[in-house]
Amino acid sequence: MIIEKEPYYHPIAREIETFEQCYANRLPVLLKGPTGTGKSRFIEYMAYRLGKDLITVTCHEETSSTDLIGRFLIKGSETVWQDGPLTTAVRRGSIIYLDEIAEARPDILVAIHSLTDYRRVLYMDKLGEEIKAHEDFFLAASFNPGYQKGFKELKPSTRQRFVALSFNYPEAAVETSIIKAETGLENGYAKKLVKIAGKIRNLTELGLTETVSTRLLVDAGKLIHTGLSPRLAAEVAIIEPLSDDPDISEALKDITTMML
Ligand code: ADP
Repeated sequence: MIIEKEPYYHPIAREIETFEQCYANRLPVLLKGPTGTGKSRFIEYMAYRLGKDLITVTCHEETSSTDLIGRFLIKGSETVWQDGPLTTAVRRGSIIYLDEIAEARPDILVAIHSLTDYRRVLYMDKLGEEIKAHEDFFLAASFNPGYQKGFKELKPSTRQRFVALSFNYPEAAVETSIIKAETGLENGYAKKLVKIAGKIRNLTELGLTETVSTRLLVDAGKLIHTGLSPRLAAEVAIIEPLSDDPDISEALKDITTMML
C-alpha cells in the first residue's frame, strides 16, 4: 500500500529519528507495547515519511510461513505459484509490518531468520529458490509484552534480531492533543477523557487484562464529538470493551459518571 496522505502522528520520544537510522542501516525494528498505543500509526507515518510502500500482515494463531511466503494454487488444469506478502515485499522493496508477531506460528520465525541478518535472503523451500531482498526491503514487527497476563512470549533469540522501540500510554498533555486531533473534540472533553484514563490505568486491583488505550479514548471522543451523550460514549467505547465482569463494569461506570 502506498500511503498518499500524511498520517497524523504525534511523536512521543525520539522514535522517528531512531526509526530513520534503523531504516538507513536496514536493521529490523520491533515495536513493543500494549494495544492501542500508536504502533501501527507510527509505521504508517514512517512509511509515508520514507516514501515507501507498506505491507501489513496481522498475525494470528494460524499465520504460517506459507501465508507469508506463498503457495501453489490450482487454476483450471494448471498449478500457479502465488507470492505471499513477505515475498512481495522482498521483491518490491517494501516495508513489511508483522503486527503481533508472537501470535503467529513459530515457523514464520524460521522464514524471516535469513532476512534479518547480513544475508537478506528469503529461502523459498516450495519453489527451491532463494531471493535476495531488494535493497529497500525493510522488516518491522510488533509485540505486546503482556507476559504476566498470558500473552505469548517472543524467544530471546528472535528478539535479539531486532532493534526495539517501546510504546506506552502518552503523558496527559500529549494524549489530550492526540484526542483533539483525531476527533475534533474541544479541549474540555478531551482532557476529561484523559483524566478518566489516568484513573482507570492506576486501578491495578481491577485485574484488567489490558487497560484503557489511547485508541479507546479516541473512539469515545469521536462519539462525543458527533453528539452521543458523554456518559454513554464512555460506557460503550471504554467500559464495555474493557470488561465483561458486572462488578468491574459498575466500578468503571462510577468513575466515568463522576468525571463526565
Ligand atoms: P497499536 O498499533 O499500538 O495497537 P494504533 O496505532 O492502531 O495502535 O493506535 C490506535 C489509535 O490511537 C490510532 O488510530 C490513533 O487514533 C491513536 N494514537 C495513539 N497514539 C498516537 C500517536 N502518537 N499519534 C497519533 N495518533 C495516535
